Amino acid sequence: MRRTIFEQEHDDFRSAVRTFVDRVVIPQDELCRTQGEVVRDIWKAAGESGLLGLCVPEEFGGAGVDDYRFNAVLDEELTRAGLAYACALGVHTHVIAPYLVHLTTPAQRKRWLPGFCSGDLIAAVAMTEPSGGSDLAGLTTRAVKQGNEWVINGSKIFITNGASADLIIVAARTEPGSRSKGISLFVVEGDAPGLDRGGRLNKVGQPQGDTAELYFSNVRVPEENVIGELGAGFPAMMKHLAQERLASAVCNIAHSEYVLEQAIAHVKQREAFGAPIAALQHTRFLIADLATETRVARTFVDACISAHLSGDLTAEEAAMAKLKTSEVQATVVDAAVQMNGGMGYMRESRVAQDWMDARVTRIWAGTNEIMREVIGRSMTR
Ligand SMILES: Cc1cc2nc3c(=O)[nH]c(=O)nc-3n(C[C@H](O)[C@H](O)[C@H](O)COP(=O)(O)OP(=O)(O)OC[C@H]3O[C@@H](n4cnc5c(N)ncnc54)[C@H](O)[C@@H]3O)c2cc1C
Repeated sequence: MRRTIFEQEHDDFRSAVRTFVDRVVIPQDELCRTQGEVVRDIWKAAGESGLLGLCVPEEFGGAGVDDYRFNAVLDEELTRAGLAYACALGVHTHVIAPYLVHLTTPAQRKRWLPGFCSGDLIAAVAMTEPSGGSDLAGLTTRAVKQGNEWVINGSKIFITNGASADLIIVAARTEPGSRSKGISLFVVEGDAPGLDRGGRLNKVGQPQGDTAELYFSNVRVPEENVIGELGAGFPAMMKHLAQERLASAVCNIAHSEYVLEQAIAHVKQREAFGAPIAALQHTRFLIADLATETRVARTFVDACISAHLSGDLTAEEAAMAKLKTSEVQATVVDAAVQMNGGMGYMRESRVAQDWMDARVTRIWAGTNEIMREVIGRSMTR
């Protein structure tokens, strides 16, 4: 079945991204693994190739295309190099860009967006706290007004790009005791006095991406760094979560397809008992099940991309896409390790890395239990 959501311009964009991945990302993979971050050179090259500000208006250095299919293509191609790249660049391009484009004043856009698009300003979004990420409305990082500044105190954890970020969107409580109604969003610049980064967290997978803990100790930001309306941070985050979950689903299913493709190539050439293991009925049935699951999930994700384009994607559907694809991905990567035998358990093999990289997709962007909550609640209210 041919995918029908793309047009010629998306195919051309895919070729350009694939070239970027082959020429810029893959050759620096080892360096990124050693440094524990997507190196600046990749960010700068992505900026020069116009990949970082897809939805940003051209006057600020962006591509000015309000068409999520380009974002999907970018994620699909980056995922082939490793989930960490889709995560690092994806948080910047699909998650944070909409905040900076839609919630900001003209002066803020002029201040931040050119550097955001060129790769000079790496962005992160800091919602999750050590006390818990699922209950976002319960966050405790405080921002208190003093004169025409806000003073931020608290800490955040598991923040993608947190160690290298130059712009951090921080969710902080501006009205004590009011849960979802009292949260506002601030841009904290990377060199702000009082901002401490706890070093790169030692993740199970995705070693090429940095994930950090952030501490805010009397961090002062001017009023001009508030984004969106004061106290309206929670609904803004909820609104943007649908695209974040869709992006997560796009990566999950692209990754499943990639891993399955590699597994099929492997079983065709690996022999046991004098014949390729692909010739065993067990292997064929296993591949049949994985291919069916992946193809069905892919069809749903493409339908969600189309619905998102027309503004019809609901929060529940985005949650379904994230839930289903992360579970398909878990099944595929686990089976692929098995089909690779002992080599599949070696850190040096790509399939072992894919298996470790994928474990987090049932946890981040809202855990799968929270996805079930979102879906179940919408069906039963
Ligand atoms: C690699 C990585 C990158 C991340 N990047 C970012 C980022 O850039 N920015 C950011 O803000 N956050 C980020 N996160 C945080 C991520 O979104 C949270 O880890 C996630 O939301 C879960 O929060 P928690 O870890 O505090 O788990 P908890 O909220 O403590 O949950 C623990 C367990 O309890 C379950 N649980 C909680 N509530 C319920 C419920 N109501 N019903 C059923 N089960 C429930 C959860 O499903 C989970 O299984 C990242 C996490 C990781 C691991």
